[in-house]
Amino acid sequence: MNDFVGKIGIITGGTKGIGKFITKHLIARGAKVYVLARDAEAGKKTEQELGANCIFRTVDVTNGAQVQATIDSIIETEKRVDFLVNNAGVTQDNLLLRMTDEQWDFVFSTNLKGAFYCTKAVARAMMKQRAGAILNITSIVGITGNAGQANYASAKAGLIGFTKSIAREFSSRNIRVNAIAPGFFETQLTVGLPPELKERYLKEIPLGRFGTLDEIAEVACFLLSERASYITGQILNVDGGMLMR
Ligand code: NDP
Repeated sequence: MNDFVGKIGIITGGTKGIGKFITKHLIARGAKVYVLARDAEAGKKTEQELGANCIFRTVDVTNGAQVQATIDSIIETEKRVDFLVNNAGVTQDNLLLRMTDEQWDFVFSTNLKGAFYCTKAVARAMMKQRAGAILNITSIVGITGNAGQANYASAKAGLIGFTKSIAREFSSRNIRVNAIAPGFFETQLTVGLPPELKERYLKEIPLGRFGTLDEIAEVACFLLSERASYITGQILNVDGGMLMR
């Protein structure tokens, strides 16, 4: 349980939902975690809850200059960065015929371009260290598709291609890049789903229940840790068996 002692990392969207639990578990294992998100109030609250090893920075991941400046200053302070979790994500669902340019771009710029900006910003330091672990949070809908989520499913599918490409690019420098594809977890992102849709999802989950945030955080910690030292370029479905093939 102390496998992150002395490790410094960055997580986007670590103030709420899945990201907050991943942050909590990493800190419990000894990591110091910089949490990047937009809502400063939630950020301050997260710092208070998770203690001195949780440091919040107000960042919108769609703003490349802001991402670069913030991550540069973290690396300058810490002299290293051991892991990055690209977790920030949003949905703006609509049927394709009604989907606006703004809905398409908003979802792509957060879920996919944000990961590009953050990964680029840590890459040089990790390459110099010849060590690092990057974890992208995609979604099973990036694999299966989902009616009403063409923007989100495409961005998450893009994140899978991004994960595998970067894993290939970075492997010679001992930087591992993996992704988790969550199934269904109750967070702010999913709370607004109609009850009948939730019932339908439940029927499709072989384990017969939604996942807990502790369960997904455990998997994230594993993939980021040295225990997963021979795993790269993988997309791990954490979905109660929904996507079993
Ligand atoms: P939440 O809505 O609970 O949390 C999302 C987090 O992302 C918040 O901390 C939010 O903070 C941050 N965020 C959103 N936009 C930005 C931005 N532009 N810049 C910086 N931070 C941002 O979502 P979940 O915890 O449910 O989702 C986490 C990840 O898991 C997402 O990538 C999501 O797509 C994925 N996922 C979730 C599933 C689920 O069942 N919940 C299923 C499949 C995938 P703030 O608003 O302050 O910026």
